[in-house]
Amino acid sequence: MVGALDNWVKLQDEYESFFFVADWHALTTDTYSKNIKKDSIEMAKDWLAAGIDPDKSTMFVQSQVSEHAELHLAFSMLNNLPRLERMPSFKAQMQHLLKKEGDAELTRDEITKARSSLSYGFMGYPVLQAADILIYKADKIPVGDDQVPHLELTREIARTFNKTYGNLFPEPEALTTITPRILGTDGRKMSKSYHNTILPTFSADEVRTGVKKMVTDTNRVRRDDPGDPRECSVYDLHLAYSSDDDQITVGKECRAGTRGCGDCKLQAANALSEKYGGYKERRQSWEGKDREIVEILTEGSRKAKSVASETMAEVKDYMMLSY
Ligand code: SF4
Repeated sequence: MVGALDNWVKLQDEYESFFFVADWHALTTDTYSKNIKKDSIEMAKDWLAAGIDPDKSTMFVQSQVSEHAELHLAFSMLNNLPRLERMPSFKAQMQHLLKKEGDAELTRDEITKARSSLSYGFMGYPVLQAADILIYKADKIPVGDDQVPHLELTREIARTFNKTYGNLFPEPEALTTITPRILGTDGRKMSKSYHNTILPTFSADEVRTGVKKMVTDTNRVRRDDPGDPRECSVYDLHLAYSSDDDQITVGKECRAGTRGCGDCKLQAANALSEKYGGYKERRQSWEGKDREIVEILTEGSRKAKSVASETMAEVKDYMMLSY
């Protein structure tokens, strides 16, 4: 919500925007997903509830625009395997498979074991991402820090294509906005698998319980100890959801030691619940309307395809594959 959707909602007023449900990407780690269509529809409901407006943005499903897969194939010839193995996502997935945390170094045997579980499709997913971007000749990509290496690969692929076949693609730039990175309730990265999330579907009570557990400035022992909001996860919530005036007050009072963490957490929880309240109401209004959602996605896919097919025709022309 904070890292992606809130940002997308703003961007759709400033740019011609394309947002897609990445169902091909989902299959790279969950190969036989019986729920993939249902999950895609549910994801679209989340987007609509967050404020993505299909009249302003093109909202579609990746697999319904076959040019993504076709361009992926063309791009797969422009990469070597060691480059893809160096992608942070590849290493992260190996660590995940071996149940290793953080930056733990892997032994040669562990790497061999993990590699044998990873598919050709998984290894190529940064290349598919490049195709997802360049098929629209997109020039600005809203990404989080963790996706910057993937965008760098996209830029490399654009350069290699342009050098090999002729100048066709722009080198897209990251559209990074300053959004606070909200940590999970246990101080680790927020992730469903760590059970440390505060989901938009939570009730006000559940939100309060979650925020209560969040890690604050650990150097602050007594209520009147001066604190450092930059060391506090709750302050990041304020930065995301409290008004500008409230953020200034929280920062000042925390530093001066005139604010209790309990009250501060309650205030952050209330701001979050207020935001979630509107979301939940809109999400509820889409329940039982799967047919309408499919219509929105089908219309979006049709619009996306009209752009993507033009690019693909140019790609084939440049690669001398037009007949
Ligand atoms: S007063 Fe607020 S911002 Fe400061 S450490 Fe406590 S919870 Fe964090």
